Amino acid sequence: MTDNERLAELIFPNIKTTIEDLEKRYPKRNLPEGAIVDRFAPSPTGFLHSGSLFTAMICDKFARQTNGVFMLRLEDTDTKREIEGSGERLLNELALFDIIPTEGYYGSYEKGNYGPYKQSDRSEIYNTVIKELVKRGDAYPCFLSEEELNEIRKEQESKKENPGYYGKYAVCSFLTAKEAIERIERGDKYIVRFRSHGNHNNKIHVHDLIRGDLELTENDQHIVILKSDGLPTYHFAHLCDDHFMGTTHVTRGEEWLSSLPIHIELFERLGWEPPKYAHLPVIMKLDEGKRRKLSKRLDKEAAVSFFLESGYPKKALLEYLFTLANSNFEEWRLENMDKDIYDFNFTFDKFSIDGALFDIEKINNISKERLSRLTKAEFTDLALDYAKSYNKELESLILRDRPYFESIVNIEREKENPRKDYTKFEDVVPFISFFYDDYYENIINTTPFEFNPKFTKEEIKEVLTAHMNNLGLDLTEEEWFNNLKSVMKPLGFAANKKEMKEDPDFYKGTIGDASEMIRIVLAGRKNSPNLYYVEQILGKDRIINRFKKVE
Ligand code: GLU
Repeated sequence: MTDNERLAELIFPNIKTTIEDLEKRYPKRNLPEGAIVDRFAPSPTGFLHSGSLFTAMICDKFARQTNGVFMLRLEDTDTKREIEGSGERLLNELALFDIIPTEGYYGSYEKGNYGPYKQSDRSEIYNTVIKELVKRGDAYPCFLSEEELNEIRKEQESKKENPGYYGKYAVCSFLTAKEAIERIERGDKYIVRFRSHGNHNNKIHVHDLIRGDLELTENDQHIVILKSDGLPTYHFAHLCDDHFMGTTHVTRGEEWLSSLPIHIELFERLGWEPPKYAHLPVIMKLDEGKRRKLSKRLDKEAAVSFFLESGYPKKALLEYLFTLANSNFEEWRLENMDKDIYDFNFTFDKFSIDGALFDIEKINNISKERLSRLTKAEFTDLALDYAKSYNKELESLILRDRPYFESIVNIEREKENPRKDYTKFEDVVPFISFFYDDYYENIINTTPFEFNPKFTKEEIKEVLTAHMNNLGLDLTEEEWFNNLKSVMKPLGFAANKKEMKEDPDFYKGTIGDASEMIRIVLAGRKNSPNLYYVEQILGKDRIINRFKKVE
């Protein structure tokens, strides 16, 4: 046995598996030509960030589009940052967007032949590989304390040298295996580091599917691969996982690009072929004219829960993320307004390299458009679905009388150029509550009618009475409006502005002013959906009762 082999046995006495065993346990996948195997690999450290939804959506899309595999792997080796239950919460939130992994970690269970899919359950695999690296002399124990590492950092700072554990600063890399064995036997605390052969004066060349050919500085850091808690670090663990899980494409945030040289060196040393890489643009926000990363702390829209709680239709948020992902999506959308967004094919070369700008106004527009295109039944189903979790008031309005609710939200819907009254389901109750008598009473008790002061009480009364006596509820919309105009004309309300200009002495206002009075009384506010439909839905008795409220 060589000294390195003895060292490896000393560190991992219980590891009997070999890399060959693992290769057999996780054979090459049998997949159709062109199938992409990619993975979303969140750490269970909190809520679902909009940027993570973006990443997950892209993994899911590429796998769907190529009949590939979309894995979910839980990267939970950083136990200090872990938030209990957030792995499951993340999965549930993704599922709300119909982003459901085909394989991997599902909270209480797992699916697939390449598991376990939770890193904390994969220690045997990591230790097997590290043991092999130690045997080969490509990994070694490091005994430095925090203080000693701090000393090194200070020295590097004062000499203006690159920080980190490399070259002559990689003190423990100079220990012989024998010396290391002695220290371990003595009970000295250690972690395990990878022995880099790189030099930061060299460049490496890598291809990124989004960014093209890149020249990056070679890695020279002897990174920690096994921590003192016995768990591996991200750099090492994700790489073993991607290898044994048969990942073909790594689609992850741009923030990982700077550590790519570490991963490339590890792959080379292990003799494994690296997957293809696509580093996705980070989602940015324009803040007082400056670009910055969407921040968990500063921006409510950084949390996916914000969109869920406000009742944005999930498909609209996804559609927005599609526009961020591929620059030709919007053009496709304009030509295919009624198609499912998943009919669009993503390509890596249509990704933008610069940080994608997160634009809430654009999300609002997409959302309005999508909501307006739903049938009343679809709208009501989605509204109810949202309301059950987030909006009890809306839920009770729908359940009180679903057909009545549907008739309200159907105003100028299910037609060409439908009205875009709603941005999100949160808007529904304030917009339509006046249709319900209890809410209406409440509205008028708290906010008195605000008529245009240009008109006297008598003039207003006159308009209301004339309309009440000639409601025309059985007329078509056009007939009704013509009727309203002819009723209002003798009272001094012109059919339009032009007519008014022609005879300013006779007219005191236009039909718009008269309709506004009616609206204020019926809805308790100046803006309401189309008055004709408001009256159709309220019906004669309610209309008359409301008119009577005006003293
Ligand atoms: N666990 C890493 C994260 O939380 C995943 C990075 C990767 O996809 O490789 O972002």
